[in-house]
Amino acid sequence: MRNVTTTRVCIAGGGPAGIMLGLLLARQGVDVVVLEKHDDFFRDFRGDTVHPSTMNLLDALGLRTGFDAIPHHPLTMLDVVANGVRVHAVDFTTLPEPNNFLTLMPQWDLLDLLANEASRHPSFDLRLGTEVIDVLRDAGRVTGVRVRDHDGESEIRADLVVAADGRDSTVRRRVGLTPEARGVPADVLWFRLPRPGRDVPDTLAWLSEEGMLLTIPRPDYLQCGFLIPKGRFDDMRAEGIDRFRARVARASPPLAEVVERVGSFDDVKLLSVQIDRLPRWTAPGVLCIGDSAHAMSPAFGVGINYAVQDAVAAARVLGPVLASAAGPAEIDRAATRVQRRRAWPTAMMQRIQRVVHRTIANGRGIRLLDNPPTRAQRTVMRIGIPIVRLLVARMVGYGFRPERLSG
Ligand SMILES: Cc1cc2nc3c(=O)[nH]c(=O)nc-3n(C[C@H](O)[C@H](O)[C@H](O)COP(=O)(O)OP(=O)(O)OC[C@H]3O[C@@H](n4cnc5c(N)ncnc54)[C@H](O)[C@@H]3O)c2cc1C
Repeated sequence: MRNVTTTRVCIAGGGPAGIMLGLLLARQGVDVVVLEKHDDFFRDFRGDTVHPSTMNLLDALGLRTGFDAIPHHPLTMLDVVANGVRVHAVDFTTLPEPNNFLTLMPQWDLLDLLANEASRHPSFDLRLGTEVIDVLRDAGRVTGVRVRDHDGESEIRADLVVAADGRDSTVRRRVGLTPEARGVPADVLWFRLPRPGRDVPDTLAWLSEEGMLLTIPRPDYLQCGFLIPKGRFDDMRAEGIDRFRARVARASPPLAEVVERVGSFDDVKLLSVQIDRLPRWTAPGVLCIGDSAHAMSPAFGVGINYAVQDAVAAARVLGPVLASAAGPAEIDRAATRVQRRRAWPTAMMQRIQRVVHRTIANGRGIRLLDNPPTRAQRTVMRIGIPIVRLLVARMVGYGFRPERLSG
């Protein structure tokens, strides 16, 4: 064994949950090592949405100037086109200023910003290119992790190991925590398309008999996500790329002029939509947060936000304990309090995501609205949509039980 590092907290995973928690603990003077298996934060698309609650947090951390310096794309309104009828479904301007909008920013830029800020604190140690391969144990308690980097294997001993290593968490598996699947009968096909030439307003989703097509606006292109019934991708590949392009064009007619830019299925990436949750987020010496504790579906794009919110809750509850001379029992009790705090908001959001998926997944596709809407539908929309807009803006923007740094 090459060497052994000893620290107070070791965080497996340098995603939104791990980097944010590392930063928040380092600010409290807690020695923290963050381990990220990749050599940088640059990754394929895995979500770019920065929600108002995260921006409020960045303000509180004094990171606004750095954030504003990174190219990003603010959105005040999210439209849904249901059966050809455009509905202004989410209006973030109904939220308090200044962060009454949602921003699209490449996740790696956000992580770089947070990691740079964290590295100003001497107690923060980020190790890129370092993969956790196992946990260390002593008398039934996890006491650290075994890692592999470019130079070989080594050990990191810690009073607490935080599993922030995502939906396929190694730490979680090694300690025998198993998430309960909350069945989502869907997959998502991700691909990019240029923005169509004519002036099409930013549109979050297109609902039609083809199902749901997400078109997430980025400065130079649209990040598209096509929800399909689970396991259908092979059939679609067999049907050929032309059929796929035709489906996309039917789902979103303005995309007909650009859909040829999906050259082949090599440009289309399959993501298995997953909603799951650990019944227990802790084991002696371990706390799971973010996707490792609960994989969220892409519905409403809240995964990053929820990972960050977990980190804030963990830093508030655990920070003072870890900054003191507290021993294992007290640390484990505090870890359990983090689960108690975050389990309910997670369960609520997942419940709503499942309703969305069930609504989309009925085999006939969905027809939420006639086109043109009937008189009854127009009445419901006139009365219902302003209320729904208010509620959905809060739910998407903040999630349930938004966390604050202090107070
Ligand atoms: C295709 C896709 C699209 C998505 N779209 C959105 C969206 O639009 N908006 C949104 O909010 N959310 C979206 N999500 C979800 C979002 O990406 C996650 O919910 C969020 O990133 C979870 O953060 P996390 O820090 O818990 O885990 P992750 O972001 O998964 O980070 C885990 C980190 O741990 C590292 N790691 C894994 N194993 C090890 C190991 N053994 N040792 C060391 N490091 C390890 C990984 O490399 C990774 O960097 C999307 C996800 C996917 C896959």
